[in-house]
Amino acid sequence: MSILPVVTYNDPILREKAAPVEAMDNRVRTLIDDMIETMYHSQGVGLAAPQIGESLQIFVTNSDPMTEDLDDEQDVGEFVFINPEILSLSGDDIRVEEGCLSLPTLRDDVTRPDEVHIRYLDRDMNPRELKASGWFSRVIQHEYDHLQGVLFIDHLSMFKRRLHRSLLRKIDAGNVKMDYPLKPRTETSAEGANAATQTVENSHTVENSHTVENSHTGDAG
Ligand code: ZN
Repeated sequence: MSILPVVTYNDPILREKAAPVEAMDNRVRTLIDDMIETMYHSQGVGLAAPQIGESLQIFVTNSDPMTEDLDDEQDVGEFVFINPEILSLSGDDIRVEEGCLSLPTLRDDVTRPDEVHIRYLDRDMNPRELKASGWFSRVIQHEYDHLQGVLFIDHLSMFKRRLHRSLLRKIDAGNVKMDYPLKPRTETSAEGANAATQTVENSHTVENSHTVENSHTGDAG
């Protein structure tokens, strides 16, 4: 098992809709083991495959650290969700502060429904369904969002996102150091920038490179 670097804000993979897992094989099994190890190492309560650079519909959770002050009966342990589908969201809207391993040091209140009903495949590809509430439900909804290309800051008002703009820029530039390995977008964008430059030299796609720049600052704002 290995600890994998976590991709950060503005990496394009965090904005993709992840592909379904077609079949369980050694590669996927290793990926899941690595995701679990990475989640514990980074003291996260959930991790989605796009966060370690794999655009696949897999997320892992262990929300127990969030419920340590409460009754042990609320502890649910470790879960692997493959090809999940949210069947319904219900209950009161609850506002709680969230964070994300891909948005290091950024925290803000997010409103989500208290209860989730989800269908998924477990790590042996057996179909399963579960209903969750409280922290477990929140973690499921947060990680499920990652598979749709959605980040928790997307749930914030434009005003709140603007307040976080400078921190988002810092994260994007790789200027936030954490106890777990991060893979800032700048590492991959260096290749992307070279490719873009070549395209510009070879043809007339200057417009495209402008679009990329604009959408980048648009996201940050
Ligand atoms: Zn997250």
